Amino acid sequence: MIPKILLSFDVEEFDMPLEYGFNISPADQMKVGKLGLDRLMPLLSDPDIQCTLFTTANFANEYTNDIQQLAKRHEIASHTFYHSSYATEDLKNSRERLSEIIQKDVVGLRMPRMKQVPVGDIVNAGYAYDASIHPTWLPGRYNNFQLPTSLYHEAGLIRVPASVSTFCRIPLFWLSFKNFPYSMYLKLALHTLKKQGFLSLYFHPWEFVDVSSYGLPHYTIKGCQSMLLQKLNRFISDLKSHGTFISYQDFVQNQSQD
Ligand SMILES: [Zn+2]
Repeated sequence: MIPKILLSFDVEEFDMPLEYGFNISPADQMKVGKLGLDRLMPLLSDPDIQCTLFTTANFANEYTNDIQQLAKRHEIASHTFYHSSYATEDLKNSRERLSEIIQKDVVGLRMPRMKQVPVGDIVNAGYAYDASIHPTWLPGRYNNFQLPTSLYHEAGLIRVPASVSTFCRIPLFWLSFKNFPYSMYLKLALHTLKKQGFLSLYFHPWEFVDVSSYGLPHYTIKGCQSMLLQKLNRFISDLKSHGTFISYQDFVQNQSQD
């Protein structure tokens, strides 16, 4: 079977400076998120690429037309309602609001910062799958070393974990892509793709904007803007001969049929 590449972007208001005690207004958070999304438009127009965009309903409310246009080619899934706050009802409300905006069902969820919430809450809110599992150890954040690295079922929910390397579970997430030498990251990603049959990757549009003036640690903004975008384009180009880019929704459906 042809390996599947699940490329995703968390399309959101840029609130990360708040985590580091740096104030940024809600309006500026939106603008940075939108600027990043604009930078990704050439990539998102590539006919060989289908992505999943995990979007806050808050962001989609602000840029309704953009999300509607993107929904024609890509999967729109939920990144809850707001990036900076969370209540259980946001799960259902965001799914319904996004669905209303794009006039299609919304079946997938990724929680901001991979926050873990009760599985029953996600099922009750009407989601078929969740992509908020990072099966590795991130010091100070979480330790999920015991969780599966392939698609699995839990209490009526399908979990699609973010990819880690097959050896030592090195995260293949956005911070690794930014900080690892390109050849090393590519080697790890291709090895995982071959061994596991899929790659589940996530980035953020604001990574492709100059956010050096918002008080963030260097490792979170390294290689910002055009250099990082070049690196991502190169990576996608290199991946094309090794698999097919499909949405999480299609991946989940295909796996259920197997
Ligand atoms: Zn997020």
